[in-house]
Amino acid sequence: MADLELISAFVNTADLEDATDEIEHGRGLVHWLTQHRLLQGPTYATERDAANACAVREALRELLRANNGIEVDLDRASATLDEAARRAGLAVRFHDGAIGFRPTRSGVSGGLALVLAEVGKAMADGSWRKLKACRSDTCRYAFVDHARNRSRQWCSMEVCGNREKARTFRARHA
Ligand SMILES: [Zn+2]
Repeated sequence: MADLELISAFVNTADLEDATDEIEHGRGLVHWLTQHRLLQGPTYATERDAANACAVREALRELLRANNGIEVDLDRASATLDEAARRAGLAVRFHDGAIGFRPTRSGVSGGLALVLAEVGKAMADGSWRKLKACRSDTCRYAFVDHARNRSRQWCSMEVCGNREKARTFRARHA
């Protein structure tokens, strides 16, 4: 099974409403990757590595918005992910009759590619469609939709769902 929680945790390293970003600098990126056991040993990440990681994260967020029925630029997002996969030498592997993805490079780009490896696995096993980003334009928080009919649209009905309902109500009665 693909690790959907890891992918959503990665996308949620940025909180768009609070304007906070855990991986915007090299140190934060190394910390996050180490914390999630995607990186071994002391490693250094440049500001460029951090910028690449943020670009990958936002490309993933776009795909998760597409999973929530929002129209996005799929080509552009795919190109960003493809480039990151190429940089890390992400390769298709087979084990126990199942498909897997492994980066051939180590370090920060390899660690980042381990997140992409889970994306590949999720796309292969069909669980990918459960991963979504909140429909609220200002929120876009990643979540796993566990509803049987995959009908969930908001990260939280209490926060974003109600806010959106109020907005629609105001617009209708303006
Ligand atoms: Zn939300």
